[in-house]
Amino acid sequence: SAGRTGMGAVMGSKNLKAIVVKGNSFVPIIARAEKFKKSVKKTLNFILNTTTTKVLREFGTSATVKAAHAVGDLPIKYWTKGKWNDVDDVSAEKLKENFVIKRKSCYGCSIGCGKIIEVKNNDYNFSEWEGPEYETIAGFGSMLLNNDLEAISIANNLCNDYGFDTISGSSVIAFLYYLYNNGHIEKDQIDGLDLEWGNSEAMLTLIRKMAFREGIGDLLAEGSNAVGKEFNIPSSKIATINNLEAPYHDIRSCYGLSLTYAFAPRGACHTSGDVFKVLRRSNEVDYSSLGIKKLDMFANNKKMAKYSALLHDYRALYSSLITCFFINPPPEYMAELITTLLGIEFDIKKLKLTGERIFNIKRLFNIKMGLNSDNDQIPEILLTPTKEGAVKEKTPDFDKLKSYYYKIRKWDPSTGKPHVQKLAELGLENLEL
Ligand code: SF4
Repeated sequence: SAGRTGMGAVMGSKNLKAIVVKGNSFVPIIARAEKFKKSVKKTLNFILNTTTTKVLREFGTSATVKAAHAVGDLPIKYWTKGKWNDVDDVSAEKLKENFVIKRKSCYGCSIGCGKIIEVKNNDYNFSEWEGPEYETIAGFGSMLLNNDLEAISIANNLCNDYGFDTISGSSVIAFLYYLYNNGHIEKDQIDGLDLEWGNSEAMLTLIRKMAFREGIGDLLAEGSNAVGKEFNIPSSKIATINNLEAPYHDIRSCYGLSLTYAFAPRGACHTSGDVFKVLRRSNEVDYSSLGIKKLDMFANNKKMAKYSALLHDYRALYSSLITCFFINPPPEYMAELITTLLGIEFDIKKLKLTGERIFNIKRLFNIKMGLNSDNDQIPEILLTPTKEGAVKEKTPDFDKLKSYYYKIRKWDPSTGKPHVQKLAELGLENLEL
């Protein structure tokens, strides 16, 4: 899938292998080599000693499953429940104990959070493959009330082989289970499949059907909104934002995340701004240089909106730097790395400004493509409080947070466009729409 949104499939369909960018200016490889080496050492020393890194190395992102459940961050039964008694069955410990055989790392990364697993005598004759990440365990596990970790691991490999994003792939399947179990669709509309919650065999069948566009799989391949349209389901019941399936962090457990999802440039995306992660781990990494301090996860105030915006900007810069968002030194370390690498003075002020410019340029691009403030929404299903669990009866005041967000951004709430004055502040006046 080459990440979310199916870009890999689009590129594949056009036989596009790579995009080369050519410029005229000379870019030194490492401008201040000795200082850069020192900065790298300092940064590594910080990162490798954090608890997050130690946990990622030991268990990978699957360690988040139980932790997320404990704080109400794990979505359950297509976002309708707040507690799942089987969560231990799909935990990182279970994965490690039964399936993990070694660690795997992206090129050059000293954390190495990936896991290679093996499921002996599996029906698919798969040998070794990549273990499921947190999002995949949530999507094919808790979202479907499926406690079969072996089936989740197989689903992960099928999705990887077929080129599916496991978040959207699992979410559209969970949506079908939700429709079936709530009486919106009948067996004869879904190729006679029994989609009782927890049925992992049907889940694997649906992945295959989706890949080969067989029967109901042909519709699933079009995404959740297409499924909703086919069965006359109101958009309020579909867990998508701007046509992208919501990732598996629950906005009812961190209110600022509602803004992260609603304003993410590519549709619902937790990596576009991880306010939930930063606030939860504020003891570990100090973000005060960005202007972010400890805050109640359930705050519906201006500060929460500001932090969401600041992290949108910061992660926009991260994306442009092609930096993994699991690697989190204090922001001033990042500024120092950029300065010594590129030889450009890059203090915190410049770091924030650059991130804000990138985020606003993405916004302008989307507006040019037809986006407006009507797109800045969260579907009701994600805002409906659950009746149990760690965030029982809780939900953000999204409209209030949204109005703060527009003000902080200096965007027009009626059109969604950045004000001219904001564009001038960012040196982007030539991009006014
Ligand atoms: S770059 Fe990120 S995703 Fe890859 S191994 Fe390192 S921490 Fe994990």
